[in-house]
Amino acid sequence: MHLNQFINGKWVPSTTNQTREIINPFNQEIIAEASEGNREDAKLAIAAARKAFDDGVWSSTPATERGAVVRTIGELIVRDKEELAKLETLDTGKTIEESRADMDDIAQVFFYFAGLADKDGGEIIESPLPHSTSKVVREPVGVCGQITPWNYPLLQAAWKLAPALASGNTLILKPSEITPLTSVKVFELMEEAGVPKGVANLVLGAGSEVGAELAENTDVDLISFTGGIETGKTIMQAASINVKKVALELGGKNPNIVFADANFEVAIDQALNAVFFHAGQVCSAGSRLLIEESIHDEFVEALVNRAKEIKLGNGFDANTQSGPLISAEHREKVAQYVAIGKNEGATLTLGGKQPDDAELQQGFFFLPTIFTNCTEEMRIVQEEVFGPVLTIETFSTKEEAIAKANNTIYGLAGAVFTQDIDKGEEVANKLRMGTVWINDFHPYFAQAPWGGYKQSGFGRELGKIGFEEYTEVKHIFRNT
Ligand code: NAD
Repeated sequence: MHLNQFINGKWVPSTTNQTREIINPFNQEIIAEASEGNREDAKLAIAAARKAFDDGVWSSTPATERGAVVRTIGELIVRDKEELAKLETLDTGKTIEESRADMDDIAQVFFYFAGLADKDGGEIIESPLPHSTSKVVREPVGVCGQITPWNYPLLQAAWKLAPALASGNTLILKPSEITPLTSVKVFELMEEAGVPKGVANLVLGAGSEVGAELAENTDVDLISFTGGIETGKTIMQAASINVKKVALELGGKNPNIVFADANFEVAIDQALNAVFFHAGQVCSAGSRLLIEESIHDEFVEALVNRAKEIKLGNGFDANTQSGPLISAEHREKVAQYVAIGKNEGATLTLGGKQPDDAELQQGFFFLPTIFTNCTEEMRIVQEEVFGPVLTIETFSTKEEAIAKANNTIYGLAGAVFTQDIDKGEEVANKLRMGTVWINDFHPYFAQAPWGGYKQSGFGRELGKIGFEEYTEVKHIFRNT
């Protein structure tokens, strides 16, 4: 499979003709050769998006028609769901069921934003001045640079592409250089759906080249980034060159609080789902478990017994529950955190290494890992590992649980398990996080906003506010 870039309505190799091998993390087979774009390619794409925006080819298309095109993209995703899911599993190692669920969610994201395209007709406000009228309208921001990570390649792209297109912007997407397969495919679908030339551009390649150019280039009006915190800081600085609008969806170290009065089985199921889903490579992974002291031993015993049974394997096998990590480098990073945890005095209760199974040796697998006897100040408790590593602490009062949960630089998501709904609501209100789940973990949908407090970033994706992020607000005053 050879993957090209999509610039100004044409499928093109990189200006240098360089390519990058794309690897299946399950067996290290080369699954594609991707064009390796650089700053020059990014500049061509930015110029195309700038011209398309300035010509008004998309922003002046009636909003209802734009919405129809965005809806068609969603319908084409439904049509090609199986092919897209296969590509996502090949590229990331995640299970095919997870990939299918991603595609369902992605189609819904396009449908949701398609529906919003023509809903905001502006607002008439009462002018305090005589003989005048005032109205407030929303307009597209302009040229949007969009940079995505490798853990949910197409989902993260969809969260950016759908609202940007629905609100009339032009864009350049730069997917993670290690997982470009589904982004290429969705650009084929966007072309088929009738997105005009130059409006949506795809550049493949490294963050230090393509991503940096998008962040720095003064023809880009908005940069929307999902990825790691250090990259986010670099992008924020670069974006200051022309005071771009910036939206950052960064990491998390998300607490999962389990009170003694929680439904035990539900809390166990969700504690496992929270941290071991997609091998913990989820920004909202519930990687810090806070258990009320009185049920600690019983809870840990049940949790460890269940975690031992998680079946690692080929994402295409129906009985596989978890695939590999994304790369050898990433597995090394996770292993280093395990060493750090041990050195800090946490007790390694489960896992902490690669599996021994012969059939898993070609993949970047890492066993579900549980540390007990953890304390707040440990790096393993404070820093995002982005792997299947759970730390367990205890608490004895609600106030202590809230204080420990909030004691991190991050503020993306968290959960609380209790059958006392008033207590659940009170804790949810006091957690400094963009999303809080009560008696569940991970649900998200197109209608609800997603984003972080504190150093998990700013700006929101999804929901009505996710659409508004891609708009400027204008007040038009008329002296009559
Ligand atoms: P990363 O920061 O290494 O890379 C993300 C993207 O940024 C990639 O496309 C990369 O090429 C690009 N990039 C790298 N350096 C750049 C630079 N100097 N300028 C511009 N772009 C650059 O992150 P990753 O390892 O791909 O993803 C994992 C991280 O993403 C985790 O921290 C995770 O929590 C975060 N994440 C957050 C959310 C969320 O919604 N908050 C969702 C998914 C992932």
